[in-house]
Amino acid sequence: MIISVSSEGSRVIFSFELEEGDSRNYGKVEFNQPTCFFEMPDSWSLEDVHPDILGLASLLMTYPFLGNTIKFNFEVSQPFADKVYETTKKVIHSVDKNLSTRSIPNQGVPALAFSGGVDSTAALELMPNQTKSFFLDRYMSEGTKSLYKSEAAHYACNYIEKRGKFITKTVSDFEYIRKPVGFPVDVSNSIPALLLSDFYNLDSIAFGTVLESSYKVGHNNFENYPERTHYKRWGSLFSKVGMPFNLVVAGISEVGTSKVVLQSKYSEIAQSCIRGEVGKPCYNCWKCFRKLLLENVLENGKLTDNSLDFHKLFSIKEARNHLIKNPIKHENVITYITSHYTGENKMMTTLKKKARGDKESMEWLEKWYSPSNSLIFSRYRDEILESIKGHLQVMTESELNQVKNWDMKSHVNDSNTIKLTKELGDMLSDHQASSKHKISQPLKNSSSNDTKMIVKELSNLNQNQKEISNQLNVISNKLDDLNLQLKQKNNSYSGILKRKINALLSR
Ligand SMILES: [Zn+2]
Repeated sequence: MIISVSSEGSRVIFSFELEEGDSRNYGKVEFNQPTCFFEMPDSWSLEDVHPDILGLASLLMTYPFLGNTIKFNFEVSQPFADKVYETTKKVIHSVDKNLSTRSIPNQGVPALAFSGGVDSTAALELMPNQTKSFFLDRYMSEGTKSLYKSEAAHYACNYIEKRGKFITKTVSDFEYIRKPVGFPVDVSNSIPALLLSDFYNLDSIAFGTVLESSYKVGHNNFENYPERTHYKRWGSLFSKVGMPFNLVVAGISEVGTSKVVLQSKYSEIAQSCIRGEVGKPCYNCWKCFRKLLLENVLENGKLTDNSLDFHKLFSIKEARNHLIKNPIKHENVITYITSHYTGENKMMTTLKKKARGDKESMEWLEKWYSPSNSLIFSRYRDEILESIKGHLQVMTESELNQVKNWDMKSHVNDSNTIKLTKELGDMLSDHQASSKHKISQPLKNSSSNDTKMIVKELSNLNQNQKEISNQLNVISNKLDDLNLQLKQKNNSYSGILKRKINALLSR
C-alpha cells in the first residue's frame, strides 16, 4: 500500500493507494474510501509530528487491508520499521537510517482515549489529575443515516471539562475507511492522541480496556494478556513511538468499572449506549440490557421483581439474540447479575440457571486482578494503584486462581446447559410472539391515523409547492425586468463614456 500524508489548513489528510497483495476486504468488512482527514488545532503543524507517529497512525487506519509492503511519502526510523517487521511481518520501504525514535518526554503527561462509556470514564477516575483525554468525534455528513448518536458523548466531554479536566475532541471521518463504519483496529481510537503527542507532550496512552477484553474472562477461556499477540504487537509498537500502554482498567471487570463510576463524581454521565441521547440510553440494545441490570444490582445489592420491568427488558430483540447463545457473550456478568436475583419471573429464573447464577455469585468480579499492575505505565503505577484500592478490593489468592482458571468448555457442553439454553430460547420466542400480539392492535389504529395525517400533510405540501412556484415565477419576471433595465443603463453609460473619451481625444 502507498500511504501519503499532507495537510490543508487545519486538516491533516491521509491517502491510501492499494497495490497488488493488499486486500479490499476481511470477513464482512470492506475497504470503503481511499482518504480520510483529522481536524487538528490551528497551531498544530504536520512538520512537528515525528514520522514514526505518522507511521503508527497509518497502520491503525489500514492494518486489516495491508499486504506485505508499505510505502510512505515520508520516512520512519529504522528501529520502528524493524519493530513493525518483527510484530507484523510487513516491510516498510520508506526509512531514514539517521532518524532516531521518539523518546518518552521527561516532563510528560498521561493521555486517555476517551469514548464517553463506563469503562473509559472509570479509567479517567483512576488516573492522575493532569491526565489529558482525547475523544474521537466521528464526522457525520448531512443526511448520514446511523444508529450512532454523539450527543451523549459530547455531553460527557463538556461535563468533564467543566470539572476542570482537560479533554479535546478531534473530528475525523477515518471510520469510513471501512464498511461497515468502525475502527479498523480496536486501539484506533488513540489516533488523535498520537497525532497530538508532541503538541501536548504526552508520555503514555490509556484505554477503557477491561478484564473481559484483556484476559478474556467471560469468553471461552482465560488468556494471559501480556502473552497475547494483541499486546505483543500493538503494545510494543506504541512503546516504540514513546507512547507506552497504560492499561489502568485491564484488571477490572465490567462489574468493577461500573462500581468505580457509580462511586465517582462522573456517575451522572457514564453511558455506554452509543444509540441513546443525553441521560437516556436507548433501552433497546444488548449493552442497555446488561448495564441496566448491573447498575440496579450495584445500587441496591439485589434484584427483585419490582426492580425493573422484565417484560420490557426481555422484549429487546438484540438482547434475546445474545441470550439464546451458548455461551452468552459476557456470561460472567450475567452470572453475577442473576446471582442477585430473588424474584419469580420465569425468564429470569431460567436465565439464572443457564448462567449458573444459582450456583455461583462471582463476587470477585467486583475486585481488582492484581497481576494486571504490569500493564500500568511505571511512571504513574503507584498513584493509580492507590486510586484503584480506594475504590475496589484486591482479589484474594483463590480469587486470582478463579480468573486464571476461567474456562467455559465443560459448562457449555454440559447437557443441562444445553437443555436450559433451549428452554430459554423457547420462552423468549413465546414472549416475542405475545408482545407482538399485544401491541399489534394499537399500532394498527395509529397507523391508519398516521396515513390520514400523511395524506393531509402531502396535500398541504402540494398547495405550498404551488404557491412557492407562483412566487418564483413572479420573482423571475421581476429579475428579467431588472436585467433589461441594467442593460439599458449600461448602454447609456457606455454611450456617455464613449462621448466623453472622444471629446478628450479631440482636444
Ligand atoms: Zn442502548
